[in-house]
Amino acid sequence: MIVIFLGPPGAGKGTQAAHIVERYGIPQLSTGDMLRAAKAAGTPVGLKVKEIIASGKLVSDDIVAAIVEERIEADDCASGYLLDGFPRTIPQAEMLDAILTKKGQAVDAVVELRVDEAVLMDRLRNRIKETIAKGEKVRDDDNEETFAKRLQVYREQTAPLIPYYEGQGKLRAVDGMQTVEAVSAAIDAILDQIQG
Ligand code: AMP
Repeated sequence: MIVIFLGPPGAGKGTQAAHIVERYGIPQLSTGDMLRAAKAAGTPVGLKVKEIIASGKLVSDDIVAAIVEERIEADDCASGYLLDGFPRTIPQAEMLDAILTKKGQAVDAVVELRVDEAVLMDRLRNRIKETIAKGEKVRDDDNEETFAKRLQVYREQTAPLIPYYEGQGKLRAVDGMQTVEAVSAAIDAILDQIQG
């Protein structure tokens, strides 16, 4: 089962991904996590993307597509995976389709977490507070200014994926304004159907 999570920053993708990993036993492939790991390890890719991530802009399509293409070859992806934060542009979606077609595979569903933009800044402030309370380091791009940029980038470059996947008949919208549990239940209903 190959599933894509779509939604603006703060929509709850990370929270719901954890639930899916547990329930369906498929790994979460977060390109953001992978890029941050590369940055922390100081790899050539990590050094290249450091400033871009901190600015809230997108890393080049070729870099992320190459990372994903390599990652999905790992054994733990054999029975599927959840893509979180990829694709984020139409060219990335086309690259993914091409990669999967070569393997005789296809995306099964695109779950869009639909949220009211007005709540996202509040959710960010909460996330920052919680991170600090846990004694963890706040992400470089989790500040109000960069978050606003990330939202703008989502609107301009990622939201066009909604009609793209609608056209493929794969888009499944979920109301992300409900409680965490209700959102999880709505996602489960979609994925249970796919698993058959
Ligand atoms: P995220 O953890 O998904 O919010 O991603 C954090 C940052 O990593 C983004 O703001 C981008 O700079 C970069 N990034 C993550 N995934 C992608 C992607 N698919 N395409 C381009 N840049 C990405």
